[in-house]
Amino acid sequence: MDCIFCKIIKREANAQIVFENEFVTAFKDIKPDAPIHFLIIPNIHIATLNDTKPEHAKFLSEILLTAKVLAAQNHVLEDSYRLVFNTNKLACQSVFHIHAHFLANRSFKWPPG
Ligand code: 5GP
Ligand code: ZN
Repeated sequence: MDCIFCKIIKREANAQIVFENEFVTAFKDIKPDAPIHFLIIPNIHIATLNDTKPEHAKFLSEILLTAKVLAAQNHVLEDSYRLVFNTNKLACQSVFHIHAHFLANRSFKWPPG
């Protein structure tokens, strides 16, 4: 399987990793859409949120818990930040290994485009 995010987990592709544990890896987005833009991914290949199973629960909860860690590390806990999962092509998912976008340090609009 040729998955760029699996390669980043295995250190076969470069990325600026900002956090990792047994379950997740977080790294800087290569093409940031905000002054702070990280991707938080599970350390196992899951293509989309539609492919999640109950046994993935620990990986999925660690994604959310990591958002708080990143907010604290980057001093935006008291500020605003946004966590986004794009799912499938029309929602602009381009890498099919699930990832939460962690975006901060800019203003946001709602609804998103
Ligand atoms: P999506 O469009 O699937 O929601 O988000 C994929 C994100 O992955 C994009 O924001 C894109 O810039 C980022 N991305 C794609 N390839 C790489 C890569 O090789 N390294 C890093 N750090 N980010 C990547
Ligand atoms: Zn993968």
